[in-house]
Amino acid sequence: MTVIGAAALLSGCSAPAGKEGAEEFKYTIDSFADLKVMRYRIPGWEDLSLQQKTYAYHLAEAAKYGRDILWDQNCRDNLRVRHAVEAVLEKVEPASGDKDYDAFLVYAKRLFFSNGMHHHYAEDKFFPDCPREYFASLLEKAGVADDGLLEVIYNPSIWPQRRSTETSGDIVKLSAVNFYDGVSRDEVEKYYAAIMDPDDPEPVSYGLNTKVVKGKDGKITELPWKVGGIYSPAIEKICAELSKAREFAENDIQKRAIGLLIEYYNTGDLRKWDQFNIEWVKDTLGTVDFINGFIEDYNDPLGRKASWEGYVNIKDFEASRRTETLSENAQWFEDHSPVDPRFRKKTVKGVSAKVINAVCLSGDSYPSTPIGINLPNADWIRKEHGSKSVTIANITHTYDYSAQEMPTSTLAEFAYDEKEVEMAKKWGTVADEIHTDLHECLGHGSGQLLPGVSTTAMGEYASALEEARADLFGLYYTADPKMVELGIMPHKDAYKAEYANYIRNGLMVQFTRVEPGRPNTEAHMQNRKLIAEWCYEKGAKDNVIEKKVKDGKTYFVVNDYVKLRSLFAQLLAEVQRIKSEGDYEAGKALIETYAVHIDPDLHKEVLERYKALNLKPYGGFVNPEIVPVRKDGKVVDYDVVYTDDYLGQMMLYGKKYGTL
Ligand code: ZN
Repeated sequence: MTVIGAAALLSGCSAPAGKEGAEEFKYTIDSFADLKVMRYRIPGWEDLSLQQKTYAYHLAEAAKYGRDILWDQNCRDNLRVRHAVEAVLEKVEPASGDKDYDAFLVYAKRLFFSNGMHHHYAEDKFFPDCPREYFASLLEKAGVADDGLLEVIYNPSIWPQRRSTETSGDIVKLSAVNFYDGVSRDEVEKYYAAIMDPDDPEPVSYGLNTKVVKGKDGKITELPWKVGGIYSPAIEKICAELSKAREFAENDIQKRAIGLLIEYYNTGDLRKWDQFNIEWVKDTLGTVDFINGFIEDYNDPLGRKASWEGYVNIKDFEASRRTETLSENAQWFEDHSPVDPRFRKKTVKGVSAKVINAVCLSGDSYPSTPIGINLPNADWIRKEHGSKSVTIANITHTYDYSAQEMPTSTLAEFAYDEKEVEMAKKWGTVADEIHTDLHECLGHGSGQLLPGVSTTAMGEYASALEEARADLFGLYYTADPKMVELGIMPHKDAYKAEYANYIRNGLMVQFTRVEPGRPNTEAHMQNRKLIAEWCYEKGAKDNVIEKKVKDGKTYFVVNDYVKLRSLFAQLLAEVQRIKSEGDYEAGKALIETYAVHIDPDLHKEVLERYKALNLKPYGGFVNPEIVPVRKDGKVVDYDVVYTDDYLGQMMLYGKKYGTL
């Protein structure tokens, strides 16, 4: 399961502070169409031992060797198109000021970004803005035979959608993904129904790593993606690098896990894949971790075939120390929470969420990548052996830093004055992260139900109220002197950035993600609106939050941070009471009064102001290059080189890691 943070995609409401931001380092390196490309840094790389760096290096090589698999999975013509485009980029020298060539370049960049001819998010096919005859002339100059290539690129009725979501017709036949050949949806479903064992307590993820085809005799079979099967050249390279990595593993669990993964790649045996995952989940002490395999099934219209993905990461020590400190002090927070003591837990345990930094992205998570990961996907493994849930700090930070570099930002647009912008830039990122830590590590786990109250008493309002409870717990403690005392919050006033940001977002900015005329329905967004609206209304007599209009634009300004904190405390006490007593009617009234209805005039204004900012809705990343440093023929270190050349990296990967 990947967490694609919509908030991060539209980031800019909070901007970064801290040491990275102070240096000259450009995070945004390219932008075109509706996309921008950023580069991320790897904090903590220098603190790794040579053994850990070597381990991470080979895992990253193993990740990059799988890149072509995803291209072919996305559509069988993708690699052919990419090879042609690579040949043009390499061999054809464009005349200066050639507008058609510029359009070709945009097409090439979009193709690389999407790992194929379909938009990475919308999944529909996109087209070059240069004329077909011009594209043909480029191919000729590059010495590439057409062979139906231009028809594939330009004809809108060939592979119109990567994954079809049509309600009429056969979604297997209508999808461009290369998971099936010659079979209908009905045939695939019957095929799997016949081999699945519904009583197996440890069900095999049948079909995860195969293509289903119909032979000339009409017989339906599965062809595995494995050594000796489909994608063998790529998988052999992956296995070779995994073997090298294994020698440098940090512990025996990692060694066993990698051994099982190699066996799985060699045999295609999904029981081995399960065994690998069970070992992988156990490794919670290593600094270096990875994902390598056929992981997520979102691209398959039937949700069975998994896309290839590679990911290498290292633990973020600073952020992890923060969540560990919170967990160690969980009881103190519970005992001091502003709720009725009857609703507090007598003994409470914090959850320590792991924070990581990406080292290499590949396959399905490159260049577009999630900001959180929760694996493995098999439910029975999650239940019996647990799962790993991580948030990826350096990717989230890069979104923030990049938003700050843009000439326009949601922060500058929706913050009332320069003072508010400065405060957000100084403390916004760190205060927001600490609020999230409090929410995840302590907020959800706090409080208790009175005896006899059902866990499902809140019905359809449960998620929004639960998110509100966790958010309020976090907001209340973000401002607590204890946070500075514990060395978590850097300054006693830093919380103000989070408060201003939260109110601005809850009352305005988040509505940029709601279609005009629609109500606010998503649970997290309802929670934020509930909290912000409630505090705005309840604090009105003291002017705690003030609505101001400047040059026809609306702003919400926090005038009194101390009173705002006590409003958060009051609402936390009330939401906790509602949950603890199972007071459905009161919960319903809170949500329906404060969380759903968006003022149509304000909504319209927010959408117009956001549109005028002209921000790119989607972001992706290049990887830093990890370069071995040799002395007297021996590798003595690994340097991290931060490239700012998006197309350069794509061309390099095509040459160096092209396998299919
Ligand atoms: Zn939550």
